[in-house]
Amino acid sequence: MLGRKQLLIGGEWRDAAGSKTQPVINPATEETIAEVASASAADVDAAVAAARAALDGPWGKMPARERGQWMHKIAARMLERIDEISRLETLHNGKPITESRHVEVPMAIECLQYYAGWADKIHGETIPVKGSGFVYTLREPLGVVAAIVPWNFPLLIAMWKVAPALATGNAVILKPASQTPLTALMLGEIAVEVGLPAGVLNVITGSGGIAGQALVEHAGVNKIAFTGDTSTGKGIMRTAADTLKHITLELGGKSPNIVFPDADLDAAVRGASVGIFYGKGEVCAAGSRLLVDKSIKDAFIAKLAERTKKMVAGDPLDPKTRLGAISSKTQLERVLNYVEIAKKEGASLVAGGSRADIGTGKGYFMQPTVFADVTPDMTIAREEIFGPVLAAIDFAGVDEAIARANDTLYGLAAGIWTKDVKKAHYVASKLKAGTVWVNTYNVYDTAVPFGGYKQSGFGRDMSAYALESYSQVKAVWVDLS
Ligand code: NAP
Repeated sequence: MLGRKQLLIGGEWRDAAGSKTQPVINPATEETIAEVASASAADVDAAVAAARAALDGPWGKMPARERGQWMHKIAARMLERIDEISRLETLHNGKPITESRHVEVPMAIECLQYYAGWADKIHGETIPVKGSGFVYTLREPLGVVAAIVPWNFPLLIAMWKVAPALATGNAVILKPASQTPLTALMLGEIAVEVGLPAGVLNVITGSGGIAGQALVEHAGVNKIAFTGDTSTGKGIMRTAADTLKHITLELGGKSPNIVFPDADLDAAVRGASVGIFYGKGEVCAAGSRLLVDKSIKDAFIAKLAERTKKMVAGDPLDPKTRLGAISSKTQLERVLNYVEIAKKEGASLVAGGSRADIGTGKGYFMQPTVFADVTPDMTIAREEIFGPVLAAIDFAGVDEAIARANDTLYGLAAGIWTKDVKKAHYVASKLKAGTVWVNTYNVYDTAVPFGGYKQSGFGRDMSAYALESYSQVKAVWVDLS
């Protein structure tokens, strides 16, 4: 048991008003591993006041380069504590330690370093105008940014928002998901440890319906940076309209991974597997719809099924484990329900399909699952499952591949497997998705923008593009006549 964790407001740790707490459960063991404060609207008021005071105080007056240096200090301390942070990420989420330690926590640190480098390179310009005016622009922070994030990449997605917000001079209130608050709290702990001025980074744990909602309603919050479910995002957009907040929404997905007959089929089998089974399929950009050309379908599915059957769930803390625990009991039940729906609707189960037991009789584990003969109208072809379940759909020819790929409400990502360069670029241009991977899948870099088309949301995380949505432009006219 990691004990009781408090809220970080204005550089101080404190209980939630009324001392309410909520448990954090390790999905691999079903044990309660911590109790965290469950914030109320009164705590949100206090966090907004602390963030505002930071903006009116030293943080607002600080030279940009110095802001970047603070961010580098936090990154350096995170690197020193990387093993501890990675272990926590695995404990509350159930993801394999190899993913936490060697992929996601390093990426979160790199993201902070990347934006630390940007802090003193964000500037306005001079604009030639008619007459005797001298006109220049200033790029200014929005003010108080609330980052509301999900449970699937708890620290990484938090950093995608916290880092550009700090680089552009905002103060931040971070609201992690109820299931996975521990690494956000550790980020707060590190900020305090290195001496970041009070109120610049506040961490509010608690329920989305109460603490999250209070942030979205609060007149003192200038921006909501949200990643989560599409329906939650729509609600946030409606509520934020009352105070005309800036918002960016990174939402769900049902991404197509398209395999053409001229692809390197062994590489495409590996890509299909990584595309759906990395992160237990709890990945917004998961290649959850595998589109395979009819002419190679049977051979391809046979290879993929063989590979999938060899993949077994294991203890997330074991460095050899590649498939961890589903994040919660509710999520496991939701995924298993989709498996039943798929069977009823006539899809062919070619691998997995059941709950898994790693030998402890505990934990929310699931077999990696592949369905073939899925038609585009089936539920598993249309709805985001957010688990290790792949729906394979066939197509005939390039035009049908494109039509099927785009036949979804979502538009987060897509994959293309082909050796034909012309076809790759042509199909990439036709796909309605924020990211298109060619002969690879699920690769990211802080310098590359990530975000959705259509109902996968708007705004971009990472890259220089994200800086735009954490700052605003002021035009200054000086009469030189
Ligand atoms: P969620 O239920 O929408 O929750 C996301 C965050 O919003 C959590 O912190 C949640 O708090 C909070 N929240 C819930 N209701 C709220 C409200 N009324 N007002 C303000 N905040 C509220 O999503 P999730 O189930 O955690 O995450 C899974 C979803 O995220 C999937 O649909 C996935 O596709 C999407 N996702 C998208 C991306 C992307 O980049 N596009 C990346 C990752 C995940 P509680 O935890 O306390 O409920």
